[in-house]
Amino acid sequence: MQTTETKSKVKPINCSHYINGKYVPSTNGKTFENVNPATEEVLGTVAEGGKEEVDEAVKAAKKALKGEWANMPVRKRSAILRKIGDLILERQDELAALETLDTGKPLWLSTSVDTDRAAYNFHFFADYMTTVGNESYQQDDIAIHYAVRRPTGVVGLINPWNLPLLLMTWKLAPALAAGNTVVMKPSEVTPMTATILAEICTEAGVPDGVVNMVHGFGETGAAITSHEDVDAVAFTGETITGSAIMKSAAPTLKKLSFELGGKNPNVIFADANLDDTIATTLKSSFINQGEVCLCGSRIYVERSIYDEFLDKFVAKTKELKVGDPFNEDTNVGALVSEEHYNKVLSYLDIAKEEGGTFLTGGKTADNMDKGFYVEPTIITGLGKDSRCVREEIFGPVVTVIPFDTEEEVMEQVNDTHYGLSASVWSSDIKRATRVASQIEAGMVWINTWFLRDLRTPFGGMKHSGIGREGGAHSFDFYSELTNITVKL
Ligand code: NDP
Repeated sequence: MQTTETKSKVKPINCSHYINGKYVPSTNGKTFENVNPATEEVLGTVAEGGKEEVDEAVKAAKKALKGEWANMPVRKRSAILRKIGDLILERQDELAALETLDTGKPLWLSTSVDTDRAAYNFHFFADYMTTVGNESYQQDDIAIHYAVRRPTGVVGLINPWNLPLLLMTWKLAPALAAGNTVVMKPSEVTPMTATILAEICTEAGVPDGVVNMVHGFGETGAAITSHEDVDAVAFTGETITGSAIMKSAAPTLKKLSFELGGKNPNVIFADANLDDTIATTLKSSFINQGEVCLCGSRIYVERSIYDEFLDKFVAKTKELKVGDPFNEDTNVGALVSEEHYNKVLSYLDIAKEEGGTFLTGGKTADNMDKGFYVEPTIITGLGKDSRCVREEIFGPVVTVIPFDTEEEVMEQVNDTHYGLSASVWSSDIKRATRVASQIEAGMVWINTWFLRDLRTPFGGMKHSGIGREGGAHSFDFYSELTNITVKL
C-alpha cells in the first residue's frame, strides 16, 4: 500500500470571483473548500457566489458591452486574443499543475492536451476572426442585400470539470473574438485555472468588465441562466442539467448552445488493423480516467475477432499504471471528486448485479490509500438493455459486446438517446463511410479518435447537444446578424 503524496511544486490558490477586472470575495464572505481528488487534502477555499455576485458580474458585463471592446478594430482585438494564448503558454507549467491538482488527471495530460489546447483556442480564434466575411447578395438590378454582425451580448459560459481550462477557453475565445462580454462559471470542483484565466485576460489588454467570473454551485449557474440581462448561455455538462437550463432560460428567451453527455460507440470490424485499433481504443476508453465526453465506452467487436481483440485489449489495459497524477509514468489518475467516484463505483455494482464479467478492474486501485482511484475496467457479458451499456458512467469503464452483421450492430449503435460521437474501424473504406453516415452522432471518426481541426463542427445530436461549436459555428452563435437591404 502506498499513500499518495502529490509532487506538485506549484502552490494551489484560493479562488475569488472576478468582477469588473478585480478579484472580489462574496459579499457575505461565504466560501467552500476545494479538495485534491488524488490525496483528499484541502487545496484551499473558493468564494461561493449567489444571486448578488451574479448580478454584479452581469451589471459589469452589460456596461462593458457599450465600451470599447466590441468597437475595437478587429486587428487590435485579435492581437489581444493572441496575447492571451501567449500568456497561457508562458504560465503553462503553473496552469497544468493547478489543473492536475484540481482534477486528478495526469500532469502530462494537463500539459500536452488541456493547457496546450487552451492556448491554441485563443490563437485559432485570433486568426479566424480576421478572416470572417458576411453574406451579401445582389438581386438583379433591384437591390443589394448585405448582413452585418454584432455581438450577441452578455453571454453566460457554464462549464464542467473534466477539461476545465480547455472547455472554458473553447467558449471564451470565440465569445471575445465576436466582441461579447461574458460571465463565466467554472465547475465548483475545478475552479483554479479559470481563476487565473480571468487575470490573464486583463493582463493581455481585455478591458475591465468584459470577462467576469463567479464561482459556486448549480444555483450560481441557475442565477446566470435565469438572469434577464444575460442574452445567451453556452453550456457544457450533463444532459439533465441542459434540460434544467433550458427551462430556466425560457422566460427570458435566451439563445442557447448545449454540449451535453454521450454514450459513444466504438465499432470494430474484423478487417480493421487490430494493432492500431487497440492502441487508439486504449485511449478512447481510459484517457483522462474515461472522463471525456467523447470516450468510446460502448465497444462493439465483430465476432470473428472478438476473442483476439479481447486478449490483446485486456493485456494492454493491465499494463496501464494507476497512480499519483504527478508521476510521469502514470497513465490513469484519480477521478475528479468523491461524489463522482461513488457514482462510478455504483455502476460497477450495477454491472455485477446485471451479470457482467469483469476482465480487468472492477474496483478501486489497491495501490493507493487515499484519493479517488478506480482501475481501468473492461466488462463483457452485458446485454443491450443493461444500464451500464445505456447510461453515461463517465469513468474508466467500458463494455465490450460482439456482433455478427453490420445491420445488427447499427441497430445497437443507434439505440440510444445520446448522439455525440462514434468511431468506426475497418480497412474497407466503402463500408466505413457507409456506416459513418448512418450513425446518429454529431462526430464520427474512421480509423481514429479525438482527431480535431478547430474549423469543423463539434457537437452532438439527440440528447447530446444543441448547436455546434468550432470555427464559423462558434462565431455564428456569438454573433447576431442584421440584414440590410439597399434599393438600387
Ligand atoms: P454538470 O451538468 O453537473 O455541471 C456542469 C456545470 O453546470 C457546472 O459548472 C455546474 O455547477 C453547472 N450547473 C449545475 N446545475 C446547474 C443549473 N441548474 N443551472 C446552471 N448551471 C448548473 O456536468 P459535470 O460537471 O458533471 O460534467 C460532466 C458532464 O459533462 C458529462 O455528462 C459529460 O458528458 C459532459 N460533457 C460534455 C461535453 C461535450 O462537448 N458534449 C464535453 C465535456 C463534458 P456545479 O457542478 O459547480 O454545481
